[in-house]
Amino acid sequence: MANAEIGVIGGSGFYSFLEDVTEVTVDTPYGPPSDSLYLGELAGRTVAFLPRHGRGHTVPPHKINYRANLWALRSVGVRQVLGPCAVGGLRSDYGPGTLLVPDQLVDRTKSRAQTYFDGEPLPDGSVPNVVHAGFADPYCPVGREVALAAARGREWEPVDGGTMVVIEGPRFSTRAESRWHAAAGWSVVGMTGHPEAVLARELGLCYTSMALVTDLDAGAEVGEGVSHAEVLKVFGENIGRLREVLFDAVSALPETGSRSCPCGHALDGWDLGFELP
Ligand SMILES: [Zn+2]
Repeated sequence: MANAEIGVIGGSGFYSFLEDVTEVTVDTPYGPPSDSLYLGELAGRTVAFLPRHGRGHTVPPHKINYRANLWALRSVGVRQVLGPCAVGGLRSDYGPGTLLVPDQLVDRTKSRAQTYFDGEPLPDGSVPNVVHAGFADPYCPVGREVALAAARGREWEPVDGGTMVVIEGPRFSTRAESRWHAAAGWSVVGMTGHPEAVLARELGLCYTSMALVTDLDAGAEVGEGVSHAEVLKVFGENIGRLREVLFDAVSALPETGSRSCPCGHALDGWDLGFELP
């Protein structure tokens, strides 16, 4: 099977122009991921791209098979994951076009499977044990620095740190919810950053979020609130430079064997009850 060391979970805009892309279909104990993996080489690194919402953007945030997505990436060799995503700004100074590399996360999702350690037997008969992964710092510290440096290298000054609150969706927040999120001191609001981050942690993967603000959330702006049309417009205006930053980050990530961050040791000392892919 084809192999890749770095995973990117994002839209089709990130791989569609690559040459020599190999499409790999992967199945997992949790069913199929959002789409095939698209493997290619970038700046000398092997990368697996996974369209988070499937090709054609048909899978809504609350229906994404997050467990299958992360499992599939690890099964082809991925150990470091970059997760670009579109978010709403919760502060008036985080307007459309802001790139924020969060360092904290708040989970306000409701219906999503967000652990591999749920005691449910896997198809091979193994049974995951009760395991409590540390998640105090949900993102890879090295990946964050790499992403920040990549943005600065393209003269796109990023916001270094902040809290991403992840809501269930697919609807946007009410004005009251949005004001509450802002009053709590949180920075941006998204729909996919969780459980992506925690599932990466449970598999010992590095995970770095790169959040592009496409709109001000309902509580941070005056007017009608978020519309999907403006989200798409801002995303389209920024996709080119986000891709440049992402690719620079890919090339600057450490080699898998020389990771110095704690991510790969998240499960040290635990008896998992099953083999990681
Ligand atoms: Zn790491």
